[in-house]
Amino acid sequence: MSMLNKKTIENIDVSGKKVLVRCDFNVPLKDSVITDENRLVGALPTIKYLIENKAKVILCSHLGKPKGEAKPELSLAPVAKRLSEMLNKEVIFAADDNVVGDNAKKAVNNMKDSDVVLLQNTRYRKEETKNEEAFSKELASLADVFVNDAFGTAHRAHCSTVGVSEFVKTSACGYLIQKELKFLGEAVEAPVRPFVAILGGAKVSDKINVINNLLEKVDTLIIGGGMAYTFLKAQGYEIGTSLLEEDKMDYSMEMLKKAKEKGVKLLLPVDHVTGEKFDKDTAPVNTDSENIKEGFMGLDIGPKTAKLYADAVKEAKTVIWNGPMGVFEFENFAKGTIEVAKAMADADATTVIGGGDSAAAVNILGFGDKMTHISTGGGASLEFLEGKELPGIVALNNK
Ligand code: AMP
Repeated sequence: MSMLNKKTIENIDVSGKKVLVRCDFNVPLKDSVITDENRLVGALPTIKYLIENKAKVILCSHLGKPKGEAKPELSLAPVAKRLSEMLNKEVIFAADDNVVGDNAKKAVNNMKDSDVVLLQNTRYRKEETKNEEAFSKELASLADVFVNDAFGTAHRAHCSTVGVSEFVKTSACGYLIQKELKFLGEAVEAPVRPFVAILGGAKVSDKINVINNLLEKVDTLIIGGGMAYTFLKAQGYEIGTSLLEEDKMDYSMEMLKKAKEKGVKLLLPVDHVTGEKFDKDTAPVNTDSENIKEGFMGLDIGPKTAKLYADAVKEAKTVIWNGPMGVFEFENFAKGTIEVAKAMADADATTVIGGGDSAAAVNILGFGDKMTHISTGGGASLEFLEGKELPGIVALNNK
């Protein structure tokens, strides 16, 4: 795949060069205070490498959705302040509402080697999300080299993720993207087998292309969560008031057929934990088969299913997981997700967690440091699993 052969920061000469780095500083803010610093921590290795190797480091990122306007509450000023503390070094904030304005130009002109400048929120400019050339050129005019380290937006073609790379001499990926490519890329392209993928979450329709693509690659596909009920209903089981996408029943049957043709084991729940209401206080009732009583909805996989899934995970050498097995936010219905996370944590395998809800679940449940890799991009990792090329990565120079 053309995405796996990209230059990294270690393959390029950065000393004395002006290096524009697209980071993912899209952090949650409450009254201008950063409430979760994971993304800042994640960005540090690349920034520190560039500082140590005497680059002039120009950072940029989006934050939230200002939709082309300079919204003060979405300023990157708090990020500059916190990064300065984390790096123990001044991060000069170029507070231009037009991002590449007088402040930015002046700050960049005055840079010495190893200095760090942060530009204002790239989405203050309406051109950003349309990948319009004018803003891409302005960004590129500040730098000799472009480094993309924002995996979370790599599936979007914007000025600061794609356009800018056309107008600089060299472009490469930073450590975060390099790591994503290594683990997601190797898992999908050259997995050590048996290769097991676990898909869950609410909807079949969100994962149609993922299921279709993964059936080409895996030895076992495990389906849990809300999306499993459409597969069960399509085969004639009773699912009560569980989530159902009627218009995806034919598709489900097609996927079951495809799995058979490909020799892929496709595992579906054989029992459930159900409740009368979608409510954290609804009483949990276990079923003894695939069937669910009238008036009840499946809110988690049952214990037999959890064992079946855990056993499949134990035998695997590569496991990819995206989407919870049940409504893990409700304590009574979190067990299936916990059991699968535990099995992955104990497995003698490369374990990769797709971003978004599954990453949150694994971290909340305390298994984060037991996994080989937790992706930092929900949407981007799903597109990766769909077999799509991510524009923000394709745009970088090859080795
Ligand atoms: P997704 O964003 O597609 O990964 O879906 C995650 C959401 O799916 C979580 O908030 C879960 O609570 C929800 N979910 C998982 N299993 C079920 C289920 N059986 N019924 C309803 N919602 C579910």
